[in-house]
Amino acid sequence: LADKLQNVFRKLTGKGKLSEADIKVAMREVKLALLEADVNFLVVKKFIKSVSEKAVGQTVLESLTPGQEVIRIVRDEMTQLLGGSLSDIKIASNPPTVILMAGLQGAGKTTMCGKLGKYFLKKGKTPMLVACDIYRPAAIQQLKVVGEQAGVPVFEMGQEKPYKIYQAALKEARKNGNDMLILDTAGRLHIDEEMMAELKRLRDEAQPTETLLVIDAMTGQDAVNAAKAFNEEVELTGVILTKVDGDTRGGAALSVREVTGKPIKFVGVGEKLTDIELFHPDRMTSRILGMGDMLSLIEKAEKNFDEKKALEMQQKMRSDQLNLNDFLEQMQQMKSMGSMQDILAMLPGGNKLAGMSVDEKQMARTEAIIQSMTMKERENPGIINGSRRKRIAKGSGVSVQDVNRLLNQFEQMKKMLKQFTGKRGKRRMMGLPF
Ligand code: GDP
Ligand code: MG
Repeated sequence: LADKLQNVFRKLTGKGKLSEADIKVAMREVKLALLEADVNFLVVKKFIKSVSEKAVGQTVLESLTPGQEVIRIVRDEMTQLLGGSLSDIKIASNPPTVILMAGLQGAGKTTMCGKLGKYFLKKGKTPMLVACDIYRPAAIQQLKVVGEQAGVPVFEMGQEKPYKIYQAALKEARKNGNDMLILDTAGRLHIDEEMMAELKRLRDEAQPTETLLVIDAMTGQDAVNAAKAFNEEVELTGVILTKVDGDTRGGAALSVREVTGKPIKFVGVGEKLTDIELFHPDRMTSRILGMGDMLSLIEKAEKNFDEKKALEMQQKMRSDQLNLNDFLEQMQQMKSMGSMQDILAMLPGGNKLAGMSVDEKQMARTEAIIQSMTMKERENPGIINGSRRKRIAKGSGVSVQDVNRLLNQFEQMKKMLKQFTGKRGKRRMMGLPF
């Protein structure tokens, strides 16, 4: 962690003595990194303010290693923002412990029911999963499958009202000695009144020990808005973040805690039932500060990219005029920035990517394909028909499928870049929902 942080603050630590201005510059960099990670704007503002206040204090500026001090403050404040310390599941003194799972559709509730079942089974509990998502027969079936994998019984009554299902499940649990009930509920695509009313009815009946909101970490700001709404309707006791494996940036984690005031208790880190971890704020901090590497990446990129060229490129992206020549040029510039592996390793979540996806051989092949095209073709890929594709494939020693793949990738990239460079894209990056 210290290593990564020192990357962000290299300038600070390199200086020996620090001025308020130095800290201001550093804070601006941290702020940008957080916004890029999709952290709620207000949360970022508050965070930066509190770090800045602490960092410009006398003791920091006059300490022997002020840079280190600043790093420590950022780390501590962030851990604080994430809830400070571990927050475990409450176990009812009078069993069964009832865990109510709430959340939007696709957030990962059903999967998490299985994960929690398995987790607590290992801890010596005897959990039972209860199918209260009654709208789709497939949902009940899914919970059954998950329960079987976890080795945990599943209670269901088809389309019966959820609170009635709970009453029956409770009887069953008392009979069989299950000391924990995990209630899977229906989610909708958006918050809606009917869903909330049903959830409230179930909550009133079950008086759960824990009411946990399951949130998809990849959805960023949307997740935070959902959390706020759920917390207002059914008082939550905690949050579970899923799909943290897909997004190591942690933006949602930082915002959710601050916005709801509820602790994050577990994280889901994959699709398998064993992919569950207790939420450790300090570990999440490390993960998030890994984001700091973004800054060194940007630095590296800035050194290597010709600024004028970069501007030209941006113009082209905006006006949708990007062609295969530009694509080739970009690739060559990337190469001159150092090996792709190095670059990927610095991206958030890139550690995983670095091992697998970018293949420098693949890049060389792509280069060869483009070089086998005529200038006209490169400037106007639309004209590359079947017979041209055959010729290009032959010329570069690849198959026609390889040529097709490249052209498809190029189209996709163009679309993506357009999204990112449009006005909307910029606003999205700042966490504004429109
Ligand atoms: P529900 O609608 O809230 O019940 O969501 P599901 O449990 O059906 O999950 C929706 C999808 O997300 C499924 O394809 C899951 O396999 C996937 N999923 C759930 N949790 C995780 C996780 O932690 N990581 C990843 N990568 N996928 C997950
Ligand atoms: Mg479900």
